[in-house]
Amino acid sequence: MGFVTVVLGCCVWIPLCVWIWSIIGWMITGEMDVISGIAGIWIAIGLGWVCLQPPRSVPIASPLAFAAVVGTVIVYPFVRVGWAKRELKSVEIDALQRAYDALSLKPGNPASKIKIARQIYGLGMPGHALVIAENVIGQLPEQYFRDEHRMLKSWRQVVKQPDHFRPIACVECGTMNQPGNIHCAACGAPFLLDRAKGRFVGKTQGRKLMAVWFTLVAIVGVMPATAALPPYLAIVAIITLLCAGFGMVFYAFFGAGSQD
Ligand SMILES: [Zn+2]
Repeated sequence: MGFVTVVLGCCVWIPLCVWIWSIIGWMITGEMDVISGIAGIWIAIGLGWVCLQPPRSVPIASPLAFAAVVGTVIVYPFVRVGWAKRELKSVEIDALQRAYDALSLKPGNPASKIKIARQIYGLGMPGHALVIAENVIGQLPEQYFRDEHRMLKSWRQVVKQPDHFRPIACVECGTMNQPGNIHCAACGAPFLLDRAKGRFVGKTQGRKLMAVWFTLVAIVGVMPATAALPPYLAIVAIITLLCAGFGMVFYAFFGAGSQD
């Protein structure tokens, strides 16, 4: 066993502890389902083992496994932050959907329109939000809609760039809609909702990404180690690994709750 392998084999357990500890925490809080969690922990242990005991015939396995572990532990927090933002957006998109539904029950309702404005502001369409709010604020008496009036005043201070007022294309028909429209001027589609959905689609993208990443790491990091096993065991190990990997990806993409 080379010196490098000994160092890598010992050092790798520091990020692995972070990895395993995080997964246990997420399983307890329910942020990660148990199947993905257990698979994640097994992959961590497998990588640690490869790093410590790389097969003699494939010495490159040790640094590869080490890089996979360090890469995962460094990159994963950023993925999670992006993922959490998406989930937050999906709450806002639900609220926008409800405001559109309310408006279709009572067409022209100014309270629904200002709700739409509030949501699309949060979803990155401030110019359109401002014009919609300006158009209806006169129908909303200040004594009952104090919050909305205050909101609009603060928007007027910050929404000034011409960029904010760019027309938005309708997903259905391609018509460019000027700020102030709530439904597409040509086809009547809820183009602001479509735009928001298109931009922040899929709150389970993070889980899918994670499943694919774990599987790749497992295959790249653990597969070389099977070279050290007797051939029949190696075949069993490779088949098990592939089944586990594809099972995990399949579960992430087609399992319960993956179709959001
Ligand atoms: Zn349209």
